[in-house]
Amino acid sequence: ESDRVHAVVADLRARGIDVVRVAYPDLIGTDRGRDVLVDHLPSVQAHGLAFCRAVFHTTPRGETVAVTGGMDAGLPDVCVYPDLDTLVDIPWEPGVAWCLGETVDPATGRPAAEAPRSLLREVLRRMADETGLRPVVGPELEYFLCEPDPDGRGGWRRYGDAPGNVYVAGRRGDPDGHLLRTLRHLGKLGIGATTGNHEFCSGQFEINLHHSDALDAADRAFRFKASVKELARLEGRLATFMAKPFADEGGSGFHLHLSCVDPVGANAFDDPDGAHGLSTVAHHAIAGVLAHAPALAALLNPTVNSYKRFGPDTLAPWLIDWGLDNRSAMARIPPERGAGARLEIRLGDASANPYLAVAGLLAAVHLGLRDKAMPPPPLEGYGYDAAKAPTLPATLTEALDAFAADDALTALLGAEFTDAFLTYKRDEVARFHRHVTDWEFTEYAYHL
Ligand code: GLU
Ligand code: MG
Ligand code: MG
Repeated sequence: ESDRVHAVVADLRARGIDVVRVAYPDLIGTDRGRDVLVDHLPSVQAHGLAFCRAVFHTTPRGETVAVTGGMDAGLPDVCVYPDLDTLVDIPWEPGVAWCLGETVDPATGRPAAEAPRSLLREVLRRMADETGLRPVVGPELEYFLCEPDPDGRGGWRRYGDAPGNVYVAGRRGDPDGHLLRTLRHLGKLGIGATTGNHEFCSGQFEINLHHSDALDAADRAFRFKASVKELARLEGRLATFMAKPFADEGGSGFHLHLSCVDPVGANAFDDPDGAHGLSTVAHHAIAGVLAHAPALAALLNPTVNSYKRFGPDTLAPWLIDWGLDNRSAMARIPPERGAGARLEIRLGDASANPYLAVAGLLAAVHLGLRDKAMPPPPLEGYGYDAAKAPTLPATLTEALDAFAADDALTALLGAEFTDAFLTYKRDEVARFHRHVTDWEFTEYAYHL
């Protein structure tokens, strides 16, 4: 291992790289980390980088939430060890390479309970042990690009604001070529970006990532979000993955395409003789996702804002349903079969932590398989009819309550993680409820 790190250092130096950025995801999926001078990398590889345990529980505004093992334990260290297999050069930051870090709790020598990457790895290990299946995930993320506007919300307005540019390639919806620049940089970064397009909403873009093993796919989605935010800053702009940044536009989804490879290397979701050309395993998987959807929402729709994306006629889900090539359903089955037979879970929004979103989804699939659950018949025609299927949670609180009550799902995710996540998110809800919003002033100030 120490030979390995010295070989890596020699190679980095030879390529003119003098800094390695070591990044790890916190509980909400923000990339955090430290820049390391290459000469210091062998020491970091041996001893790790020490961070205050609150790194996982710091809010976007910089407040620390009192999660067990954090403040109550006196804010001890967690150590982050570079995973040298994940090193890539950052094309827009010459001289800097970027790798992911493994977080370890020095008190136990094991991953910190709330470390999202280790959580996903554990979910995958249990799934492989019990089902023999290897999940394959393809992430699709949407985001809004904003540019400075002193009069806009928070000093920002939507970039290239003009309606009707969905799937319009070129300068009409993207006046100075933001998407082209971003796509090219991502291509050089080598995280499996494939295509990009202007989305339904003004200033909204989508970039698709190739499918791969679940951990790798989550790693790439994590790096994708960090990269897009960085690249926007280089343009003096703000890229946001929040679920629904504007009241007058739709939200940003995080669709997850999912299939499973069986022990002989075949797609376990495909069956030409099965109902709809899908295997019994695929039906169990769909049923698991539907059964656990209210709890899953806590992980896939993790903010107060997330619940404003849901609704009828949005292309975001509102009901807990599934359909064959039906974009109004929560779980869509794209038309391909054979190696391409898969589910497209449209529940998640772009604000989700990719590791937790994938871990939660796979845990629900695992439970569907374990319970041999079968789904109701698929939705026919245009959805969004609440007479036909149950609705998703209407608020983060409802989702957190469903998550807390879903013993089977939380057992697969672990009690320590569940406790940390619920503590963090309940605190977020409480902070929101204490805050006086613009809406309240507009609604109440004049006539009450
Ligand atoms: N923006 C929609 C969502 O929130 C998805 C639109 C699409 O199908 O690409 O999920
Ligand atoms: Mg889309
Ligand atoms: Mg999609």
